[in-house]
Amino acid sequence: MFPEKNIDPFDAAHLWHPYTSATAPLPAYKVREARGCRIILEDGTELIEGMSSWWCAIHGYNHPVLNAAVESQLGKMSHVMFGGLTHGPAIELGKLLLGILPEQLTRIFYADSGSVAVEVAMKMAVQYHYALGRPERTDFVTIRSGYHGDTWNAMSVCDPVTGMHSLFGSALPVRYFVPSPSSRFYGEWDPSDIAPLEKVIEERRDTLAALILEPVVQGAGGMRFYHPEYLRQAARLCRENGILLIFDEIATGFGRTGKLFAWEHAGVVPDIMCIGKSLTGGYMTLSAVLTTDSVAHAVSENPPYAFMHGPTFMANPLACAVARASVELLLSKDWQSEVKAIEAQMREELAPAASLPQVEEVRVLGAIGVIQTREPVDMARLQRRFIEEGIWVRPFGKLVYIMPPYIICPEDLSHLTSSLVKIVSEI
Ligand code: PMP
Repeated sequence: MFPEKNIDPFDAAHLWHPYTSATAPLPAYKVREARGCRIILEDGTELIEGMSSWWCAIHGYNHPVLNAAVESQLGKMSHVMFGGLTHGPAIELGKLLLGILPEQLTRIFYADSGSVAVEVAMKMAVQYHYALGRPERTDFVTIRSGYHGDTWNAMSVCDPVTGMHSLFGSALPVRYFVPSPSSRFYGEWDPSDIAPLEKVIEERRDTLAALILEPVVQGAGGMRFYHPEYLRQAARLCRENGILLIFDEIATGFGRTGKLFAWEHAGVVPDIMCIGKSLTGGYMTLSAVLTTDSVAHAVSENPPYAFMHGPTFMANPLACAVARASVELLLSKDWQSEVKAIEAQMREELAPAASLPQVEEVRVLGAIGVIQTREPVDMARLQRRFIEEGIWVRPFGKLVYIMPPYIICPEDLSHLTSSLVKIVSEI
């Protein structure tokens, strides 16, 4: 098999792909179609999907229910502006979201991508303090190994080294970073883990607007699973010091960690929550920022009496319609059992990688499986090998990880995990 047959010369010459060179790009393989858990390349090669298109395609591709939702909405309108107008898809999705998120989160701001949701959340936190007569509270604190997106402010709270944005460091607003908790999700809680955050908050409380965290699972900044007690302790510190707590559930939302949302592992409700990615089942880009009455009242009842944000494609009806269908589909089935079964199978089948000399650690939580290598991997070589073995996995740095669609069957998952272990063993 020659995976290179699927490389398109126009694409290679003109289309810039994520995190790669325009002139000497990493290979990008052309996809003809995608169905269920399969990505089908131009030459007919079928790949078992291990990435859910970066956490999104939880129901797999080309799903009849999601297709029908898009088609039905398309016949009515694909888009209208949200300024001064509203529509059924936004309202119905909103009702659905309020029913599955903590009852304290009552206000929804739709945005157009995960990064924009993080920008919105950060602006909301700053505007909240401004509204309360604390304009000096404009700083943010976060933990290392985090990832929150690629736009300017989202970048500023990504891990300064592993967060893929280190070269922009000097151009970014300065944030406060504390070590990410060393207490593991399945391990003992070490109370000293909270001390660095406690110290920063004590020293900076007068200028801090918010603490932003990915609850329990840190994604692209390190694929780490940390102890939920950290969230309880962090929430206490925030409350005691009038600092808002923002949870970025863009990757963790909609069942990926074994709970519908990761805040449930700790029972901690944030002041602001961002969701996105699998919100639309991976069909199109949509995100939402949810907040409490208290934040919404402060922002809305003080000058300038409005929240100063409004993307052109806010609450896009097509995206809202498919999001509603995707969330309803998820809730209509026993997704917990699906995720548990994937977790159990990955735990068993990835375990052999742990004894390989080139592997630092293997870890699994919910439908997320990670093999961390000792040295950064050669992404181009590995990608080619994955395609030769009939799987789609996209590693980065020392992280070779999978988060398959929840509908993956045990045979496909076995193929995915065994090929993964085999290829890592060749490194
Ligand atoms: N937050 C988290 C936790 C993410 O994983 C990502 C995307 N990897 C983002 C924010 C940014 O989302 P988007 O790529 O849709 O802008």
